[in-house]
Amino acid sequence: MKKWEENVRKVVPYVPGEQPKVQNLIKLNTNENPYPPSPKVAEALKAIDVDCMRLYPDPAASVLVKGIADFYQLQEDQVFVGVGSDDVLAMIFMTFFNSKKPILFPDITYSFYDVWADMLRIPYETVPLTDDFTIRKEDYFRENGGIIFPNPNAPTGVELGMQDVEAIIKANPDVIVVVDEAYVDFGAASALPLIEKYDNLLVVQTFSKSRGMAGMRIGYAMGNPVLIKYLNDVKYSFNSYTMDQTTLALGAAAISDRAYFEETVHKVVETREWTKKELAKLGFVFGDSKANFIFASHPEIPAAELFAALREANIIVRYFNKPRIDNYLRITIGTQEDMEMLIKFLKNYKK
Ligand code: PMP
Repeated sequence: MKKWEENVRKVVPYVPGEQPKVQNLIKLNTNENPYPPSPKVAEALKAIDVDCMRLYPDPAASVLVKGIADFYQLQEDQVFVGVGSDDVLAMIFMTFFNSKKPILFPDITYSFYDVWADMLRIPYETVPLTDDFTIRKEDYFRENGGIIFPNPNAPTGVELGMQDVEAIIKANPDVIVVVDEAYVDFGAASALPLIEKYDNLLVVQTFSKSRGMAGMRIGYAMGNPVLIKYLNDVKYSFNSYTMDQTTLALGAAAISDRAYFEETVHKVVETREWTKKELAKLGFVFGDSKANFIFASHPEIPAAELFAALREANIIVRYFNKPRIDNYLRITIGTQEDMEMLIKFLKNYKK
């Protein structure tokens, strides 16, 4: 090892799901939306004035902040935006998780949290989920430097009821509690109303899932104006995180179209419920996912084997080779046709 390598910040990288270049894949591995963004996004793209690109973008991202505030009937100073919710989460970690006490999150959860905690040298403890993959609120009633969990959780899809979410926030008034609601629009209850009541709560959401814009990288946090100001102070210091003006305009167009959003979310939810029924008929077991994916396992077919067989058939799902979940596949909900192809393959598997 070279002497200088002692000073390298070494991280086990966060490995996002694969984005294969191959055409004709049924891509059910990264929880994207199978439907395109609102037609208003295409209109806004046509209206982009290229001359404006000479100028730096608005650091306050006002057009997008206003769009989000209007959608949720909030004040603009309750909204913070960033380059995907990963970026928003990174800003939150940097801004609020500076205690010497460990932050807490579930042992089975979004794999970004431990990577960022390591990267920023934030101590953390993982809290085991119960056998049926639920979060036990009592496990979070202890000293800590902050709390973060997705609701619904990922990759399990399991929702924590709002009373339990509130109990966790209420029991931890001295630290920031972050509810990562990347998948909330597909049928779970949101903690958003609680931001009026608790000044230690941040609710994080994204345009990547329910609004079909993963490629544009738009995420946001909502909370008390004091928290939002602290976040902006850190963000403004990282100029590279400023959102570009095209993204701001397209994001504002997307969030203005409530009807399209509701229609496409409804289609995904219908297809999810259909897929659950079909998977159950084939002997798969899974929790009651409230997200745009199903986390399923089959008692007789090892998940790793099925993952490889699906891949061979050009159907790509997600497999996590991790303790407790190494016999599960996370299957994103695609179009109805995508899911029919999946079920057809599974029906014929090993017949
Ligand atoms: N939170 C959770 C729980 C997720 O699964 C994801 C998607 N990988 C994100 C946040 C980040 O999404 P994005 O950065 O695309 O907004």
